[in-house]
Amino acid sequence: MRWSFFFIHLSMNRPSLPGLPDLRAGNLYGIGRNYAAHARELNNPVPTRPVIFGMPLTCLTFDGLVIIPSFVEDAHYEAELVIAISKTGKDVPNEEALSLIAGYGLGIDVTARDIQQELKEKSHPWLIAKGLDTFAPVSRFVPAGHVTDPQKLRFTLDINGERRQNGDTSLMLFPVAELIATLSRYFTLQPGDLIFTGTPEGVGPLFDGDRLHAVLEPGLVTLDVNVEKKT
Ligand code: ZN
Repeated sequence: MRWSFFFIHLSMNRPSLPGLPDLRAGNLYGIGRNYAAHARELNNPVPTRPVIFGMPLTCLTFDGLVIIPSFVEDAHYEAELVIAISKTGKDVPNEEALSLIAGYGLGIDVTARDIQQELKEKSHPWLIAKGLDTFAPVSRFVPAGHVTDPQKLRFTLDINGERRQNGDTSLMLFPVAELIATLSRYFTLQPGDLIFTGTPEGVGPLFDGDRLHAVLEPGLVTLDVNVEKKT
């Protein structure tokens, strides 16, 4: 087998990022408690450093369908701004961090809150609560050039036509540039890596048949997701 063919074959498991056809999805990073009001609603302390977690690529989906397995009793929605990384970066200074952004999208960081609560009590990693198959539905991406300031974006989440979350990125505890700089201190960021930047207040449970509609403003992208709960 020719090497080039081998590598093409490997990369087939990594989906292309809609709206950014030159990029395939890489590592998935999540940020917890990046909005003070959300940290408080779950009785968590407001962090002094970004809370970083990872998710497997298999939870990423662009199909608009979240499937909640039967062993999850309390799956929550968390609407978030998602950053796609354009190029390799290590120890990126804050001032240069925004130059690593390929584009912006919206995602739902679906969280098995019952499992997460158990894991938190035992001080175990959150991986299972955050990373189940289909638990990271993401919209298409708008190229970075369409956004002048990532800290001046608003987003909303409606479920079955009812407003549940209002996001305002100016309220992030750790702005996008700082998240990129911090992540790059620990991990080499690579093209196609995605960063879920945290959710505002208003999280709550998902039910079978729920229809989620999220909008990133002004008029940048929308995300529609259906929920199927296995019994
Ligand atoms: Zn989240």
